[in-house]
This record gives sequence, structure tokens and C-alpha cells, in this order.
Amino acid sequence: MELLIVEDDDAMASALAAAVVTAGHKPTRVVRGEDALLVHRNFGVILLDLGLPDMDGLEVLRKLRQVTPVPILILTARDDERSVVLGLRSGADDYLVKPVKLVELLARIEAVTRRAGRHSTAPQQNIVLGDLEIDLDRRVASRGAGELPLTATEFDLLALLAGHAGSVVTREQILDSLWGDAFVASSRALDVHLTGLRAKLQRPGFIINVRGVGYRVEADPA
Ligand code: CA
Repeated sequence: MELLIVEDDDAMASALAAAVVTAGHKPTRVVRGEDALLVHRNFGVILLDLGLPDMDGLEVLRKLRQVTPVPILILTARDDERSVVLGLRSGADDYLVKPVKLVELLARIEAVTRRAGRHSTAPQQNIVLGDLEIDLDRRVASRGAGELPLTATEFDLLALLAGHAGSVVTREQILDSLWGDAFVASSRALDVHLTGLRAKLQRPGFIINVRGVGYRVEADPA
């Protein structure tokens, strides 16, 4: 796959490029956020550093998300909870903290790209729960006349829970379904997406915590 590395640190960029080549990807590296915005169309996945010379990586992320659903993995040296949370809320699919482990990097790239690829399969039925309607083909959730402004991951999370309405979905099932592998998936990322989804649903109690097990939505919501 054509893979874009947005990274201003030469040594880090070289290490990332060497790593993804071993998995058969074709990396291209750019240094500036502006360059990423210019060339993103040519790529199947983007690795995005947050600390860039010309603009904040989070700003690059927000601009990209206005125009493309391409999988984006944030790379952060900061191990900065706030940046990670903002990144996930701004539509990043996942994040990696530097120094990045090679095996983890490749596994996450595979997970986010596989998830993106699943979205173009045969037509699926809509899910309707009370006044909430989830159009799986258009990837749009709406309540009444209004579409909910969900990120790609929030939509996947809602579709998974609603598709199992009435049953408990465990955290492991969610991690496995959304990121492809419960082992590499990030539990903290799930919490951020869940918080974002709940805020946008504006329906307290719709997603029920089942303590120590997972989450459930009611099959027949009041
Ligand atoms: Ca940097």
C-alpha cells in the first residue's frame, strides 16, 4: 500500500520507512503539514507526527478529515494525553507513542486499513432503534431529521453496539472488531471514542455499562 509518512525528524522518518517496507508498503515521506495536505490523495494510509515545523499536526488532521476518510495514525512523542484525546476526537483512527515498536506499528497499520476496507462490501440493512437510525451503507447515523456528526470510529462503535442491541458486547469484542486485534488495540482509545459517541448521542443511559463485562444498548429503547 502507498503510505504517507508526515514527520520532520529525519532519523524517525527513516526508521518508519524501513519498518513499513518490510511489510510490503511503499512509503513516501514529507516534512511539512502543508505538503501532507497537498499529496494525501495518493495514499491508502497516513502516519502523522503531531509536532511539525509549519503547523500543528492536530490542525493537519482536522483539515484532512474535512476532505478524506483515509485511515490516519497519529504518532506522538509527547505521550501527552490531551493531544491523543484531541487527535482521536478529531478523527484519527488510532495513535502510537514514540518510540514506536516495529511490530506494533505494522499491526496497527494493518488493523486500520482492514477496517477501512470493510466499508465497501455488499449493501446492508439499516439499524433502527427508537428514533435512532443507522444507515450502514452511507455510514450515517441520524435521530429525527438530524444527522449525528460522528467520526468514523464513533460510527463503527455505534453500529457494533446497536447491531447487538439487547446483548452485552465485551470490551474485547469491541477492540477486536474495531481494531482487528484485541492484543494491539488501545483500550484508552476506546474510552475516548465511547465518550465522544455518548456526547454526540445526547441520550444518557443509551449505552449501558455492564460492570466488568462490557456495554449494552437496549433492543427496545424507551
Ligand atoms: Ca516532529
